Amino acid sequence: MTPYEQILSHITTALTALSIPEHEASRLMTPDAIHIKELTVETARGTERFDAFRVQFNNARGPYKGGIRFHPDANEDEVKALAAAMAVKCAVVNIPLGGAKGGVMFDPKNYSQEDIVKIARAYARAMADHIGVDRDIPAPDVYTTPEIMAVMLDEYELVKGKSEPGMITGKPILVGGSRGRGEATAQGGAYVLEEFVRSIERIPHEMRVGVQGYGNAGRTIAHLLARDGYRITALSDSRGTIFHNDGLDLAVIDEIKREYGSVAAHPDRIPGATVHGSTDVLTLDVDVLIPAALDNQIRPDNVRDIKADIILELANNPTTPEADDHLYQKGATVIPDVLANAGGVTVSYFEWVQNRTGLYWTEDDVKGKLKEVMTTAYRDVIALSEEQKISQRQAAYRLALHRLHEAMRLRGRYSVESDHFRN
Ligand code: NAD
Repeated sequence: MTPYEQILSHITTALTALSIPEHEASRLMTPDAIHIKELTVETARGTERFDAFRVQFNNARGPYKGGIRFHPDANEDEVKALAAAMAVKCAVVNIPLGGAKGGVMFDPKNYSQEDIVKIARAYARAMADHIGVDRDIPAPDVYTTPEIMAVMLDEYELVKGKSEPGMITGKPILVGGSRGRGEATAQGGAYVLEEFVRSIERIPHEMRVGVQGYGNAGRTIAHLLARDGYRITALSDSRGTIFHNDGLDLAVIDEIKREYGSVAAHPDRIPGATVHGSTDVLTLDVDVLIPAALDNQIRPDNVRDIKADIILELANNPTTPEADDHLYQKGATVIPDVLANAGGVTVSYFEWVQNRTGLYWTEDDVKGKLKEVMTTAYRDVIALSEEQKISQRQAAYRLALHRLHEAMRLRGRYSVESDHFRN
């Protein structure tokens, strides 16, 4: 299945359960607009052309919102899937934003920082008429950073001839970014896990956690959960997995990662620890498994070996639909990506609000508001999943699709007269 087919399969199941008429369902599954541009950039190699995309999926609940990735796989299908997921995500956590995603198809590892900045400027220039504070608000994603957001803001403002800091989020704090944005995804995941663990009357000190990926999301959640008393027993990155049933000392892991580039590079510095292959983290004996690296990691070929009974999806799309069914049938709880990793877009929303009002919040303000948004959303999801006896993923999709559908209906977007989709 392509990424777009995967997300459509979750959406279709939800729309069928909600008994949404076919022509309305088909409208809900169709992106509002797909902008495809060819960027011409003078790089160190000469004049080069890059395919660039911005998919605007749905804005019935508010301006389009979603990151921009720089990646060789950032094709139209992938960007469409991610745009749809953003519309669902914003609706699950009930923030007044729609869904979009952008991408430039190239491998930034093969380019200098100077060239990457030129490509970022070319993207902002090419898309300037489609994005903006009240229209479509980009943010960082794979291989794009707060610094790239600052450059895109600068180029956009140059084209438009006015200051408009809220046209993009995930900026450095000095150019209008929000406090707490860097940790927001992991922090949001930690809040929903806290809520779930409380609801099943378990206590963190008795729970062992494995995290796949030790980057922004994975490393931050490992630290947050260790602070909350969880035992972090397994950690991985692209080069290997390190495991200790009594728990790993994260200060030592950080040192090893910093000095040798991998969490698993020096097990001799952690007495009793064992080293495993990079994907073995998924099947080790833990209570909570947190995929925080890549998509399609939990699949039909390894799902039977997964021992964790709680899976918190910080990565986007880490579980295939078949594996997801299997986990649900065997009684495991999967806290789905569209909720578990929505802390990032929620704090992006807070950044947009701060930019629009010109008033900036403290880190405690941000955390307090994030906790409220995430726990309210999660309580809604748990309640629906228990009431209808469906997985938390299906509950999240039903909740989101119901909200999107109602917004579309109230705006009259299903009527034949509506020409909203011809932009
Ligand atoms: P990152 O690049 O900072 O970290 C990725 C980590 O995955 C790295 O430690 C890398 O070594 C590891 N990795 C790569 N291949 C691996 C493999 N085969 N096995 C094990 N580990 C491997 O990325 P990130 O920002 O932490 O994002 C991780 C995931 O979370 C992605 O799916 C991303 O879409 C999702 N996500 C991130 C955010 C955010 O705000 N950072 C928000 C929403 C979703």
